[in-house]
Amino acid sequence: MFFKESKIFKREEVLDPEYLPEVLPHRENQIKQLADNLLPASEGRKPINTFIFGPPGIGKTASIKFVFREFEKFSNLKTIYLNCWEVNTSLAVLSEMTLHLGFFVQRRGWAKDEVFSRLVEALRKSKGAIVCLDEVDQLIYKDHSVLYDLLRINQFVKTPLGLVFISNDPFVFSGVEPRIRSSLRLDEIEFKPYSFLEMKDILEERAREAFFSYEKGVVALVANHAIKKGGDVRVGLEILLKAGRIAERENASIVKVEHVKKVLPKVKEAKPEILKERISDQEKLLLKILKKRRRWLTIKEIYEKYKKEVSKPLSERMIRNYLEHLASINLIDTIKEGKLIKVRSIA
Ligand code: ADP
Ligand code: MG
Repeated sequence: MFFKESKIFKREEVLDPEYLPEVLPHRENQIKQLADNLLPASEGRKPINTFIFGPPGIGKTASIKFVFREFEKFSNLKTIYLNCWEVNTSLAVLSEMTLHLGFFVQRRGWAKDEVFSRLVEALRKSKGAIVCLDEVDQLIYKDHSVLYDLLRINQFVKTPLGLVFISNDPFVFSGVEPRIRSSLRLDEIEFKPYSFLEMKDILEERAREAFFSYEKGVVALVANHAIKKGGDVRVGLEILLKAGRIAERENASIVKVEHVKKVLPKVKEAKPEILKERISDQEKLLLKILKKRRRWLTIKEIYEKYKKEVSKPLSERMIRNYLEHLASINLIDTIKEGKLIKVRSIA
């Protein structure tokens, strides 16, 4: 078979959004705060539970994975990373935690009590654990009981259990009972969007690892576009990858500004589309209701229309939570008129 080595890519995989770099420039402070919060657990003391929030694509997930990777190197604590798009019930969270600690549970068919006692047993035999629930809005909008269950564990287990929650939505805990919220004692870490120069540094680092060589000006142009399209680093990574592929196809010796220019018109935010696939069926229905009307509706009005569409309607509170979520990912607009909140679909 004819096999040609790439002249362009040194390590193409570095441009994959899933790739976890050796360093995360401009997140040093957040990483330090996170590590400081969790560190006591490695000495058998109680860690500080942490809530990380900020818009998509700015290193929230990368930072916790970075800290977990370091943590596992020098302590015998177990770190457990769960994404709530996949693990989206309290029972599933408890089961996955138990499995990660090396204890068997059946993913289906076990009652919550059984899983809970197995998890308690697993934690007792461990030196402690840190669990991260990423995109936790996916779980909390539907069901608060996971918080209650996680807190309850401490009544049975002496070994430290640290909790880290991540969400795009700073208000994800606002609907949670105050008693539970205060028991969690969350330390908050806000992730702010990157400036142009920060974006440029970050992409520069990735480009240097990914390509053998590239023209001066490539990274600035890409960073500028990523900022313009909403500040998601993934947009920048996608442009770099595509530009590299064009360079390869054209048999160029390095990645050039002209290659980037060919890619730019084709790169969109893409996020809303990704998110649309990831919203729940309830949320899709709510969007449909809003799209049909194309005007501002109060939550009461939406709820009335929603009730007519389904045989077993959820509570108004739940629908309000779903609408909050849709607003937080920019699929709907909200305004306040006096005490009334009105909503309409954006597209
Ligand atoms: P989110 O905030 O949505 O969780 P991610 O952590 O998934 O964002 O980051 C999106 C992409 O951007 C990932 O590929 C990640 O490696 C990269 N990234 C974000 N911030 C940095 C950074 N400071 N340094 C290097 N790469 C970064
Ligand atoms: Mg993330």
